[in-house]
Amino acid sequence: MIEFKNVKKVYADGTEAIKDFSLSVNKGEIVTLIGPSGCGKTTSMKMVNRLIEPTAGEIYINDKNINDYNIHELRWNIGYVLQEIALFPHLTIEENISIVPEMKKWKKKKIRERGKELLEMVGLDPSTYKNRMPSELSGGQQQRIGVIRALAADPDIILMDEPFSALDPISREQLQTDIRKLQKEIKKTILFVTHDMDEAMALGDRVCLMKDGEIIQVDTPQNLILQP
Ligand code: ADP
Ligand code: ADP
Repeated sequence: MIEFKNVKKVYADGTEAIKDFSLSVNKGEIVTLIGPSGCGKTTSMKMVNRLIEPTAGEIYINDKNINDYNIHELRWNIGYVLQEIALFPHLTIEENISIVPEMKKWKKKKIRERGKELLEMVGLDPSTYKNRMPSELSGGQQQRIGVIRALAADPDIILMDEPFSALDPISREQLQTDIRKLQKEIKKTILFVTHDMDEAMALGDRVCLMKDGEIIQVDTPQNLILQP
């Protein structure tokens, strides 16, 4: 699980990006963070894998303070899917998926099997796709590879920062369906940033509404609909 306790972030120029942020994302849960541009979504996300240091407060992963982890151990246990499609253009799809498992020194056979299994999970035939280059795939397919690459080494935690924003509506819907299907099988702890309310409601077990660096409300989509 991920736990933010009274986290605050003031940037060097004085911008108060996060004010008093406390939130738990339970094991196997998807929490969507939603709010207007500049409300602090990306900042809170980047603090989890220590790309940004909080000014105050603590963050725990699986009940251990993130500062007490070895930084590599921490980041290997967190899959991060970015807004921009970020596959390595000179590596094949299989090589892209294998990067983190290789760093973790998984056996070659295990890495190959994992790659095959993941491609199948998102509906891409491994024999057709594993040796292709990213440029030979559509935007939606590339982003799907970005998602399974983040899952490849079996991290406990997945952070997704507007992973679908560059996609057309149809690919977007397809990927939302994929994520929900994947989540049923893998039960990861997922923090998902979006500025699209429909997406936040469709994907989140709970939705966290943010404004100006603060949480306004956290609730299930059903309860949010009932409370205007
Ligand atoms: P969101 O992801 O919701 O769009 P961000 O977390 O990116 O919001 O930004 C929150 C606030 O912090 C914004 O006002 C943004 O301009 C500011 N900000 C983000 N990064 C920096 C930075 N490196 N230095 C100063 N201010 C920043
Ligand atoms: P998003 O809204 O998608 O989070 P932004 O365009 O706000 O992205 O920010 C892009 C990058 O610029 C981020 O790495 C963020 O930390 C940085 N940034 C955003 N606002 C500021 C700022 N006021 N000063 C310095 N860096 C900033």
